[in-house]
Amino acid sequence: MDTPQDFRFLIESIAQRHNPYYENEYLVIQTYPREIQLRVETRRFDYAQAKKWCELENFAHDYTSFALKIFHQGKLYSVNSDGTPGEISRQQDWKIDPRYLNAHYDQNSEAEIIVCNCSYPYFLCFLDPEDSERQPVTCLVDDFGGIINNCPNCGIQIVDDIEIEDEPLYFEEEQEYIPEACQGCSNYHGSVYNGNLLVCAIHPYGWNNQSCPDFTR
Ligand SMILES: [Zn+2]
Repeated sequence: MDTPQDFRFLIESIAQRHNPYYENEYLVIQTYPREIQLRVETRRFDYAQAKKWCELENFAHDYTSFALKIFHQGKLYSVNSDGTPGEISRQQDWKIDPRYLNAHYDQNSEAEIIVCNCSYPYFLCFLDPEDSERQPVTCLVDDFGGIINNCPNCGIQIVDDIEIEDEPLYFEEEQEYIPEACQGCSNYHGSVYNGNLLVCAIHPYGWNNQSCPDFTR
């Protein structure tokens, strides 16, 4: 987790704090791979320009996905075909308390921030030195330190990834979350291999926009 790139995003997030998003601003965000903090590729007020930018980014990158969102009433929303805000986005600009970020980047700490499939960041740590398993807790600025067992954003059961590597079968049973874009799609595979979810043969890591171009009933 501690790559120079992570630190770059950290700096970007500081920059973003001084340059807040505006009502009705379109953001092209990276949806895969998921980073600890929101990665915004571009910001535009013009819907057509933003849409075009998003399409080009998706076309140009094989292993990175992007989605178009609109900033509305302090949150990210999907965008209707006429450019107006649609449904609230699963992916949001989560603000992580700096104390958790510091612990995450501390090489001597066994605690770390994990990003849920839905984009929500939580913190895995040993609450008690006697504990054998790390406990997930919330780490957002306005909601930190609460013990959680399910993701507050999407509801999926949270499992410590150390356990996932040791006992992939248990993980397989607990992994019931089907990405929004894949629900009802006949291409959806959804089995776990070595702890990694194979979403489908066309998009092994899934498609993060609401509408996958290869959706088949
Ligand atoms: Zn989630």
